[in-house]
Amino acid sequence: MNILAIETSCDETSAAVVADGARVLGQVTASQMEIHRQFGGVVPEVASRRHVEAITRVVDTALGQAGVGFSDLAAIAVTMGPGLLGALLVGVTAAKAYSLATGLPIVGVHHIAGHVAAAMLEEPDRPAVRPPFLCLVASGGHTELYEVDASFRFTRLGGTRDDAAGEAYDKVARLLGLAYPGGPEVDRLARQGDPARFSFPRGLLDDPSLDFSFSGMKTAVLVALDKIKRQGQAVPVEDVCASFQAAVIEVLVEKTRRAARMTGHRTVVVAGGVAANRGLRASMRAMAAEEGIDVHFPSPDLCTDNAAMIAAAAYPCAREGRFDTLELGAYADLTLDEWQSGRYPVD
Ligand code: ATP
Ligand code: FE
Ligand code: MG
Repeated sequence: MNILAIETSCDETSAAVVADGARVLGQVTASQMEIHRQFGGVVPEVASRRHVEAITRVVDTALGQAGVGFSDLAAIAVTMGPGLLGALLVGVTAAKAYSLATGLPIVGVHHIAGHVAAAMLEEPDRPAVRPPFLCLVASGGHTELYEVDASFRFTRLGGTRDDAAGEAYDKVARLLGLAYPGGPEVDRLARQGDPARFSFPRGLLDDPSLDFSFSGMKTAVLVALDKIKRQGQAVPVEDVCASFQAAVIEVLVEKTRRAARMTGHRTVVVAGGVAANRGLRASMRAMAAEEGIDVHFPSPDLCTDNAAMIAAAAYPCAREGRFDTLELGAYADLTLDEWQSGRYPVD
């Protein structure tokens, strides 16, 4: 079963064709990073315009790469939320137009279910994981722990009370004068620094809940930088990155360990943009070995936004014949519960 998927929730215009929710036949992603970098973050109006300019070319190229036409497809999947409303609307409108023109059914997908489903895509060097499993999503807008059942339904166990992990990376990178998006830069510099040089707070680490808090870490970095500058010293950028990253990783790993013990899950998935982080991957693997459990990550290039993950998340719906209609909307704040129950809010 081939699914064409479209993802335009933020600053990547992406289309992919995926077979049986697992094999990527073709994928094209037009990144807007260079434009938004000039502003230090994503400018929503600019993102929407760029999606409009790129969408048909990206879809055509993905189909060409996969070597399939519309008659070889079973469904069209599209990210319906959460994300930037104007950006989401471009993808949803395009998907509805393709559906109307071809008669193919449409599946609206929750962006975070997509990030998790990225781990369900096959890789040459890695077996594809299948639910049920426990999962941690650490991305630009989310840091959440979920149980995912055999039918790919999500139950939330906890999540951030303030900033997301990726957001903290981006804010700390900005304090250090690094380029947007900050996560990959901090990851790179952290490898050359001393993680014990600064002791940044481990937000909610000792709290029994499965919640997270990252805003205190960001503030602690700001205070440390101010002190160094007032003393007229050069900022040890690598040490700040390494110490900040050590704090983030410790809470992500320990809360995931706790969730695995509490729920008894033996399989853990770590997804979202921050799951590309090399330090996090190594620490999660070490924790999993200690606990005697399996941990899976999407390949690093499928951790950030892409359309293949949206096709993978749509597959369980398409297989069961659960389709949306051309009434499908885009929702900036869509929750997983709203998506799963089909009760979408009215904007
Ligand atoms: P959401 O998925 O929550 O709506 P988003 O789509 O903006 O948000 P993603 O695309 O999943 O987020 O991930 C982008 C985030 O991941 C950014 O905050 C970025 O800095 C972070 N990130 C990417 N690579 C790395 C890395 N190697 N280390 C740490 N963070 C990273
Ligand atoms: Fe994302
Ligand atoms: Mg992004």
